[in-house]
Amino acid sequence: MLYGKKNQEENPYLDPIFGSSLEGDPLPKYRLNQKGVEPRIASRVVQDQLVDEGNARQNLATFCQTYMEPEATELMAQTLSINAIDKSEYPRMTEIENRCVNIIGDLWHASEKEEFIGTSTVGSSEACMLAGIAMKFSWQQRAEAQGLDRTKQRPNLVISSGYQVCWEKFCTYWDIELREVPMDKEHLSLNMDTVMDYVDEYTIGIVGIMGITYSGRYDDLKTLDALVEKHNQESEFPVYIHVDAASGGFYTPFVEPEIPWDFRLKNVISINASGHKYGLVYPGIGWVLWRDKKYLPEKLIFNVSYLGGELPTMAINFSRSASQIIGQYYNFIRFGFDGYKEIHLRTHKVAMYIEKELKETGYFTMVNGAEHLPVLCYTLKEEIDVPWTLYDLSDHLRMRGWQVPTYPMSKNLQDLIVQRVVCRADLGMNEAIEFINDLKDSIKELNEAHLVDGSDVVKKKGTYGFTH
Ligand SMILES: *Cc1c(COP(=O)(O)O)cnc(C)c1O
Repeated sequence: MLYGKKNQEENPYLDPIFGSSLEGDPLPKYRLNQKGVEPRIASRVVQDQLVDEGNARQNLATFCQTYMEPEATELMAQTLSINAIDKSEYPRMTEIENRCVNIIGDLWHASEKEEFIGTSTVGSSEACMLAGIAMKFSWQQRAEAQGLDRTKQRPNLVISSGYQVCWEKFCTYWDIELREVPMDKEHLSLNMDTVMDYVDEYTIGIVGIMGITYSGRYDDLKTLDALVEKHNQESEFPVYIHVDAASGGFYTPFVEPEIPWDFRLKNVISINASGHKYGLVYPGIGWVLWRDKKYLPEKLIFNVSYLGGELPTMAINFSRSASQIIGQYYNFIRFGFDGYKEIHLRTHKVAMYIEKELKETGYFTMVNGAEHLPVLCYTLKEEIDVPWTLYDLSDHLRMRGWQVPTYPMSKNLQDLIVQRVVCRADLGMNEAIEFINDLKDSIKELNEAHLVDGSDVVKKKGTYGFTH
């Protein structure tokens, strides 16, 4: 979050810029410098600012891609100037985006009998926003046709309490009640026993998550689809499912093709995924697809001219660089189905190794193992009596360069403090071994540090969070 600094004391840029006429001249930090500087110096100043940034390869906190091949980055650098929205100047670019949507439609089993439709976005947040708006407008149309009194109650969206913040934003922006199905220790994903109790005629849709950001767990979409099907048979107010597959959308189709979660399920009408998570592209790129264009109300489709013809657009953002779309297409061609599968299986193997080692330390209980996504989420064993907390362990790992967040689970599971390791393609087995060695050393240090009393530390620090 960026706050104004206007009233703060001016701190000029203080590092010396050797061998230039600017050596003695400080640059202001929070005002525009009056005169420009040479490119070499500008570049140096910016690079200096970034030297003590975290090391992306040791960042086990993010789902976002931190490595791409040099050929991909070169291609992306070359295409930075292409404006993705300018479909008349760049028709080939438009064709590439179109191919990507088709490739993804195929991966997610869009039916040939229906006309799927989709778009690239900046990420899953924009994609979820679009899917949410489509659900809201479709519901309005249905409600109007059925003569429902829309002034009586706000429309609502049903989702597990493990939702990502983009859904809170969507509901706030569009004045929709976010109906959380609480997670508890027995139900660490959408609770299938109670979910339908939250649905009424004002429900615009149910969101299933593949997987939950806090833990990596999947919602059971197959069961949800069956419950929704039963509801729709019995009720005159049908409800449909959107799948937030930000991370699973580019993982499951390759590694676990047997799990039905996508358009194979009748009531799943739209899906989003982040190209910059397991789609292996640098941020930011996302995708959203609807199984049939009838689920995307027409007033959400805007036409732009395209080589004298018309081309539909539905994304929220207008101008942006096409380089991420190019990066996605490069990856699709470069890796193919087998390549994605191999990369993800390798990452999964690394996750299984880390899980095994974590268990063998004897300190941790797994909240989510590597059975699906290569994301590990664990707590300190309840019965274990150590003078440190997971927060202390995060701090010690940080000293060794590793970013491994510790945070309380979602709202009503605040007392469940977890630590999470997200394995990505650039975490090789060698690095994983080093991570485990560093983890064991950290634990040893913490066990031997008599100065810290863990229980007091927790009381004093309280719990602190992690921005997902
Ligand atoms: C990461 C994530 C998002 C947000 O995705 P961005 O691509 O970062 O905008 C939404 N939902 C889930 C489940 C996520 O994991």
